[in-house]
Amino acid sequence: MALNKIHVKKDDTVMVISGKDAGKIGEVIEVIPKAGKILVRGISEVTKHQKPNKQNMQGGIVKKEAAIFSSKVMLYCKKCKSVTRISHKILDDGSKVRVCKKCGETF
Ligand SMILES: [Zn+2]
Repeated sequence: MALNKIHVKKDDTVMVISGKDAGKIGEVIEVIPKAGKILVRGISEVTKHQKPNKQNMQGGIVKKEAAIFSSKVMLYCKKCKSVTRISHKILDDGSKVRVCKKCGETF
């Protein structure tokens, strides 16, 4: 199976554009290319019952983000305060950066 291309990277700030979390902003905490999914902090939280273990003798309920399809989010530009499209720019030293098409902010 070919890997799905994911347009965001770990630590990117993204906004959810569809589903019940639409409009929420969060930070990408994990990218799962095989599934075409990402984990975003505070988005799509599910509560899980945890059995007692060495770290947590009591067990109990923990909150954990569920993976969502990367197509449900867009990169969020903190400068524009909105979602944005990006273009790529090659710097003088040959490294590639992503640039906000609206304001020129680099990511
Ligand atoms: Zn911008």
